[in-house]
Amino acid sequence: MAGDRVRFDANQIRWHMGFDYNSLLMASGAAGVALCFTLMSSWLRERGSTFLLTWAACIAIIIAAIVVFSVFHSTVNVWHSMLAGVLLTSAFAISYGGFTQFSTGRFETGRVAVLALISAAPIAVSAALGLDGLSFLFINLMSALLLGFCGHQYWTARAESPGPITAIAALHAMLAVSYVFCVFAIAVETPLYLHGQVPDNWAEALNLMVSVIALTGIGGLFVTVHQERISRRHRHASLIDPLTGLSNRRALFERFPEGQVPQGAGLIVFDLDDFKGLNDRYGHGFGDMVLRGFARMLEDNCRGEDMAVRLGGEEFVLVLPESSASHALALAERIRSAMGRSTHAIDGEPVICTVSAGVAVAEKPGLSLDTLIRKADNALYLSKRSGRNRVSQTTSSAA
Ligand code: GH3
Ligand code: MG
Ligand code: MG
Repeated sequence: MAGDRVRFDANQIRWHMGFDYNSLLMASGAAGVALCFTLMSSWLRERGSTFLLTWAACIAIIIAAIVVFSVFHSTVNVWHSMLAGVLLTSAFAISYGGFTQFSTGRFETGRVAVLALISAAPIAVSAALGLDGLSFLFINLMSALLLGFCGHQYWTARAESPGPITAIAALHAMLAVSYVFCVFAIAVETPLYLHGQVPDNWAEALNLMVSVIALTGIGGLFVTVHQERISRRHRHASLIDPLTGLSNRRALFERFPEGQVPQGAGLIVFDLDDFKGLNDRYGHGFGDMVLRGFARMLEDNCRGEDMAVRLGGEEFVLVLPESSASHALALAERIRSAMGRSTHAIDGEPVICTVSAGVAVAEKPGLSLDTLIRKADNALYLSKRSGRNRVSQTTSSAA
């Protein structure tokens, strides 16, 4: 008989592994406690990442469910299994909230509540009708569906950290499948009533073993994904100028790792005119506002592969990887003229800040970025010397 075969397999598993159901229950509880601590300590180091706290809360609820399940093992009381089941499925519903927090920064309370209620309803209704077998079947079915759903969500969000997030999705799927096995085992053995027996079959044993692996694995992977996110944020911060949001000098040099610019690339160096005087007259805060305004103007004039950079102070660079001398000159002139026309108001008084520019184009292959910047700087010096608020270009011989 199918039922006998199922029992035989359960014995085989215990014989090989040397575990019984209660030790497995304890092991998955212990894994949960360890995971809870890992998530909490990661959150303490980065308190903005509240999704870690949500996941820690999920695990705490799963541990509570495990405790109630172990009570149910001694009482075989349908209300105990119902409570454990509702706790378990609620934890999986909340873990979906943790996912949305992770991907969008928001905890979707409404959706989590709907998921938790939809999952709890069949478990509670069948328990209320005294159908303890069916209630147990629903616990497994709803857990499988919620885990499958969460796993799918992670799968669709894997682009951020493909390796760890794919593994998180796979572990959710693995756990979901183990719950599906539990559904089948109970459907074969005690589909409606448990007849005073706790479900203790091969699928339950397998599910607990998979739970230990999945809970610890997912915990470790969450921490990895979180760490990767932090290091990406630090790296981004090291390449972006905080005042203007433009790339900084370091990002510019990383753009050309070999240090060479492609032939035909154009580079414009901008330097705001008499900026020290502007700061002195109107204050540093006003100067900052002018810097931000000029940065937006550069960004608005970027196309495709172009890159706007704040080199430092009131010096900016526009890199045009595919350009020509005429295009670079025309663009520099357009920006200079727009800056000369734009007014910045302070106490109702319109203030104009002009900009000088120097243009250089990599006319031959193998030119270094340093050399191109130096050529553009020489042209800029020419603009300053000729009275500011103008654009100059280096001649081919100048370097
Ligand atoms: P020139 O026309 O020859 O370029 O004269 P300048 O006054 O613009 O040049 P100078 O190099 O003498 O002064 C640059 C000024 O830029 C001095 C410095 O206080 C100011 N500055 C540098 N960084 C910032 C910043 O982040 N914010 C503000 N408000 N001012 C800055
Ligand atoms: Mg300067
Ligand atoms: Mg200046």
